[in-house]
Amino acid sequence: MENHLVQDELNALRTSAELRAVTDSIQDYAIAVLDPQGVVLTWNTGARQIEGYTAEEIVGQGFDRLYTAEDRAAGRPQTLLTEALRAGRAQDEGWRVRKDGSRFWADEVISPLRGANGAVEGYVKVTRDLTQRRQDDEHRTTLTVASVTDYAIFMLDARGTITTWNLGAERAKGYRADEAIGRDLSIFYTPEDKAAGKPLRLLRRAQDEGRVEDEGWRVRKDGSRFWADVVITPVNDANGKLIGFTKVTRDLTERRRAEEQLRQADERLRLMIESVHDYAIFMLDRQGRVATWNRGAEHIKGYTAQEIVGQHFSRFYPPEEVSAGKPERELEIASSKGRFEEEGWRVRKDGSRFWANVVLSATRNRDGVLIGFAKITRDLSERKRAAEEMAERARQQSVAAELGLYALQTAQLDRVIERSMQTVRETLQIDDVRILRAGESPLPGARTVRIHAPEPDAEYGFLAASASRPLTANDVRFLQAVANVVAVAMARSQSEEQLRLAEREAFEERGRSVRIQEALLERDEFISVAAHELRTPLTALQLKLQGLESSGGLLPPKGERLGAAVRQTERLARLIDRLLDVSRIAQGRVEMTPEIFDLAVLVRQVAEDFREPATQARAVLELQLPEKVEGSWDRLRIEQVLVNLLSNAVKYGTGKPITVKLEEVGDVIRLCVADRGIGIAPDDVDRIFARFQRAAPIRNYGGMGLGLYITRHIVEAHRGRISVASKLGEGSTFVVELPRLSAPAAAGRDNVARARA
Ligand code: ADP
Repeated sequence: MENHLVQDELNALRTSAELRAVTDSIQDYAIAVLDPQGVVLTWNTGARQIEGYTAEEIVGQGFDRLYTAEDRAAGRPQTLLTEALRAGRAQDEGWRVRKDGSRFWADEVISPLRGANGAVEGYVKVTRDLTQRRQDDEHRTTLTVASVTDYAIFMLDARGTITTWNLGAERAKGYRADEAIGRDLSIFYTPEDKAAGKPLRLLRRAQDEGRVEDEGWRVRKDGSRFWADVVITPVNDANGKLIGFTKVTRDLTERRRAEEQLRQADERLRLMIESVHDYAIFMLDRQGRVATWNRGAEHIKGYTAQEIVGQHFSRFYPPEEVSAGKPERELEIASSKGRFEEEGWRVRKDGSRFWANVVLSATRNRDGVLIGFAKITRDLSERKRAAEEMAERARQQSVAAELGLYALQTAQLDRVIERSMQTVRETLQIDDVRILRAGESPLPGARTVRIHAPEPDAEYGFLAASASRPLTANDVRFLQAVANVVAVAMARSQSEEQLRLAEREAFEERGRSVRIQEALLERDEFISVAAHELRTPLTALQLKLQGLESSGGLLPPKGERLGAAVRQTERLARLIDRLLDVSRIAQGRVEMTPEIFDLAVLVRQVAEDFREPATQARAVLELQLPEKVEGSWDRLRIEQVLVNLLSNAVKYGTGKPITVKLEEVGDVIRLCVADRGIGIAPDDVDRIFARFQRAAPIRNYGGMGLGLYITRHIVEAHRGRISVASKLGEGSTFVVELPRLSAPAAAGRDNVARARA
């Protein structure tokens, strides 16, 4: 595109006498005039420099030799000429071939040259070598290239006065030709540059060096500034005398702005990379030498930028990897594959190692030429350590679980303990582990954990481990897990021991109770036999005594003695009957014979019988009875109950009134016998209803402790209840509750057995 302008200017200059001189002096463009067939007519300095041929070598030759074989085969040169004729201009960007066969990337514009009559006299070809610029622009954006739009081309005389002016110059600088021509070139310079004598200096350098290029601020007519690339070339006449200069000015303002933006973007990127803390981000050159360094790199690797830039990156590797050629291999992989990534050990400045994730990417320029490597390193030590710790913990947990299983399946405590110690030694790789009983003190430096006993805050002892290395929190957790297994095994073996003891005791106890049972059975049998044996002669004796009594004729005192003997035998008979009852109850042989009768009547009769003994005991008998209390009970047995309770009341309530009360509560009949005698201690209350149980001192009160036992059984055989309320020294109240209808008569035989069940 830029070539269009050059072309325009050359077309404008064509009429000038200095055309040849001007084109000759331009080094940056190859300018050639071709005849209508494409034969080269003129060849300038730029053409010689860019395309390699001297004017003598090329003039008269076809211009197509400047194209590649492919282009020639495709008829490209001819196409361009035809296109130039048709459109007035042909532009092309592509490869061209130098004399030496090397290629260069060219921007080329071909325009037709027309005579005064408008006939085509030939072509002007302007070719610019873009190779160099492409390299220069490597880091510039395409925008930059596109933004370079303006060229000003004009001439100066030897003193620097403007002699020609063109449209491009007008556009670039704002002066019309009549305003510019005749002025000094310094009008385009800033006051500072002018004061520094820069315009003249540039001319002098161009003269001395054959060419000068300058990039800097220039000033437009309106005073605004633009960034310009200026090339000044001296023009000499045939004798080599300086006749003036050509000046080509490119307005690079756009490019400069783009460059500035790019620079700022680069700067931002650089700052961003610089400030990253967790990643080491840096560049290596092609040989692997550190070229840049960021804060993260300093943080992770410990080197400052001054220390490391220029050093080979192999110093980040452990020595064995360096000697194995690993760093170079990584560079090779990165440059062939574009990228290399791995996790591995790296070395810090202080020699310590860290586990790193490393990404190495090849960096290439636009032409694909390797210019270095970008390297990003992350320190994964912490992550690796955490992962390893997790794995170790999982391993220890499974070992502990296995040990727990073994302990479950193994009854012998010593074997469990031995296995536990072995497990600790092998798993933690430590030398000494032992069990300390509570109170024993561990070796100095040993780590101890409790062997907890099942009771809260109690322990069987300690597990003590001594290691040459410090034990980690995981290790201690593992020790505790093993100690817990040992604790369970100990607790189990202890409770097994207790169980064995308890079993032995229970066995012995069983033996004892069997013996007691046997003794009791023997006793019951003895009682039963003895009672029967006594009953028979006693009955015979009673009959004889009654016979004597009824025959009469015995005078006092013999008659009185006979009466006393009869009463004694009656007492004896009652005792023996009680014993018989007891053995019947024990054998479940008490028979009930219910009948319907009036209980109030029965109570009155029994009380009547007791009038005499009560009087003897100075006790007043008080009766509180309803008119009639009918029900179905075993009359004789209920009489026995009344007799027992009243005789106790008289016996233990001497000298105090006795109350007998009968009341009906719904279908339950309640009988209360209350005295105000010695009372019963609370501890004895339950006991007195059992066989042979007495609570009163034997010195003062006789009795075998059977009355209440029999009474209770009779009451229960009637599906009733007996209880006592008593206070020591204040008296006792026995309460009997009977259902109005006890078991039907037919079922009588089994009643006792059922009642006892
Ligand atoms: P015992 O023939 O010894 O009186 P019991 O079975 O009739 O046998 O009574 C058992 C025990 O209950 C008695 O030894 C006595 O200590 C106590 N006891 C029974 N009735 C009374 C009562 N009314 N007052 C005080 N204690 C009594």
